[in-house]
Amino acid sequence: MEADNLLTLADENKMPQVGFGTYLINKQDEMDTAVKTAFEAGYRLFDTAQMYRNEPVLAASLNHNGIARQDVFITDKVANENQGYELTVASVDFSLEQLGTDYIDLMLIHWPINTKFFDTWRALEDVKKAGKVKSIGVSNYNRAMLELLKTQATEMPVVNQIENHPYLTSQGLVDYDHSEEIVTQAWSPLGRGAVLDNPIIHKMADHHNRSVAQIILRWQVQRGLSVIPKSVNPDRIKENINVFDFELSTDEMSMLDILNRNERTGMDPEQVYELGHQYR
Ligand code: NAP
Repeated sequence: MEADNLLTLADENKMPQVGFGTYLINKQDEMDTAVKTAFEAGYRLFDTAQMYRNEPVLAASLNHNGIARQDVFITDKVANENQGYELTVASVDFSLEQLGTDYIDLMLIHWPINTKFFDTWRALEDVKKAGKVKSIGVSNYNRAMLELLKTQATEMPVVNQIENHPYLTSQGLVDYDHSEEIVTQAWSPLGRGAVLDNPIIHKMADHHNRSVAQIILRWQVQRGLSVIPKSVNPDRIKENINVFDFELSTDEMSMLDILNRNERTGMDPEQVYELGHQYR
């Protein structure tokens, strides 16, 4: 895969720092246009999940746009209902079928679930050994969960995909991930739009002659995080990856760091950990 701005994961595989989120893109024509615009703009990472029910839609769009499998990095996630050893292995096979491919670049456990915690991870270690996935990771794990995983894991996740934006900076977890050579990847990096009207970020955007979204994504990239913004708007798709030709000052970074409100747009991982299969 040829791409700019690649991060090297702890397993030596390379992953683009900016990727394209596909949650809620389920219509074929919408995905076709989004994938075409994204690929032309330079995106090489596409983030899907069993839960999104759009793996075949993404695969068809890559085909419709003549994009070769080896030219993209596909992230997928094991749905809660598919957790547990056997179900996870079978679900990876089904995802491969749905995606029309014989490997997935990065397979994540979508949410931590207390009853299936170790079995699901063991299944991912085994599907990796079998060559069906190149890298394995988790999503929505806090520090305690990663420490628990470490007590039985043969290998540790190379990515932890978590909700992360200026109102939920989770710096402690980001630092812990970093110390364990785990790349933190921000989902809802724009807070699903919730942070876009912040006056401090607006002022910074005016100063740099950039959009508010670009300031937020640049802040994440400069913190060393990977980001996977979602958009179906061609202009926004293009602006969201165009964040490598300007820099925020140390003061600006600090001003963004302190906007944290510990405010989630999604579920609290600790709640899902307890709810388990009931959360879909
Ligand atoms: P997001 O990327 O923070 O925000 C998406 C929203 O912001 C959409 O409404 C989009 O509208 C708008 N937007 C995008 N770019 C913009 C821009 N430049 N200016 C203004 N508005 C903009 O939220 P997300 O979709 O929830 O998260 C991104 C991806 O993370 C998802 O698609 C999914 O792949 C992944 N994710 C993972 C998990 C997990 O548990 N692991 C959970 C949630 C999401 P338009 O489309 O109209 O532009």
